[in-house]
Amino acid sequence: MVHTPARPPEGAPPIRINLYSDTQTLPTPAMKDAMMRAPMGDEQAGMDPTVHELCDRMAALMGKEAAVFMPSGTMCNVAATLTHCRPGEEILAHETAHILTSEGGAHAALGGVQILALRGARGMFSPDELRAHLRGISRHSPPQRMVEVEQTANIGGGAVWPKPVLDEIAGIAKENGLVTHMDGARLMNACVAAGIAPARMTAGWDSVWLDFTKGLGAPLGAVLCGSAEFIDAAWRWKQRLGGSMRQAGICAAACLFSLDHHVERLADDHANAKALARGLRQIPGVVVEEPDTNLVFFDPSGAGVTGAELVRRARMEGVLLSVLGGRVRACTHLDVTAAMVEDALGMLRAAVARG
Ligand SMILES: *Cc1c(COP(=O)(O)O)cnc(C)c1O
Repeated sequence: MVHTPARPPEGAPPIRINLYSDTQTLPTPAMKDAMMRAPMGDEQAGMDPTVHELCDRMAALMGKEAAVFMPSGTMCNVAATLTHCRPGEEILAHETAHILTSEGGAHAALGGVQILALRGARGMFSPDELRAHLRGISRHSPPQRMVEVEQTANIGGGAVWPKPVLDEIAGIAKENGLVTHMDGARLMNACVAAGIAPARMTAGWDSVWLDFTKGLGAPLGAVLCGSAEFIDAAWRWKQRLGGSMRQAGICAAACLFSLDHHVERLADDHANAKALARGLRQIPGVVVEEPDTNLVFFDPSGAGVTGAELVRRARMEGVLLSVLGGRVRACTHLDVTAAMVEDALGMLRAAVARG
């Protein structure tokens, strides 16, 4: 079985410390209370008041005209591509971008678009790299339509694009008639780390979305924002993709709760990630990338153990990690305390030493 997610391995102990992903958080009791109290209606018919509240709030937060609630971040990216681009057109994105590496080829399969892979350190490309890949208009070239960035860059190590670079990229895109799309799966991590408000961070970008199931700790949902005309067109794709929902307010309430209670605390996740990186760096042979936010990427092969083997050993100790982009990824989030980071470091030291 290649495609069906694997069940937990036989004989593995219960997971004590889950560093696999910030998607693994469970709704807190207070979040569940908010969900139970949410007014609801038929979202597909425009009758869910909690979804409307979330969309209005998100549009204002991102400084855009309108917003639409989607079941997932992937659907936000796919609906945005389908809305902005026509078959045969080209998107410029980093070679490690989620749309290129992690969405099952959806943009080609469903949209008939191709993605031109740009290069650069830590999941980011420079303005010069972008300029160098502008094709100009010719009968021979695919028409270029959209520039995409990830804030933060996931496989790039949770790196935060500096605001002046985002501005320059958006400026180049505008000058060349390209639309701009920001994958904001972890946008709030970037805003908290940089101390920049979301509307300012996303100013000049035509479309942007935020995932509520990453650091924000909601069980389901993402919101795509843009002009009223863009969101109206994205609604048709939401319908076509099967993303129109019914009493979705129960989930939108969790998203609203997370905006009120789980944004500022992202700074704790970032501090925990820095502590984890410091500790890992003290293990001889382990190469650690300095985290900007809540993702810690490291390579233990210099200590004589492959990433995959370390992940296996850690799992048998009750610590869950992942392998992503050829390195091990440890992710801090709502359900990981500073004490758990210390515990995890002890176990990882032991797991490396056993080799
Ligand atoms: C997780 C993620 C997505 C997809 O979001 P889902 O809600 O899992 O569909 C897209 N882009 C990036 C950068 C992500 O990390």
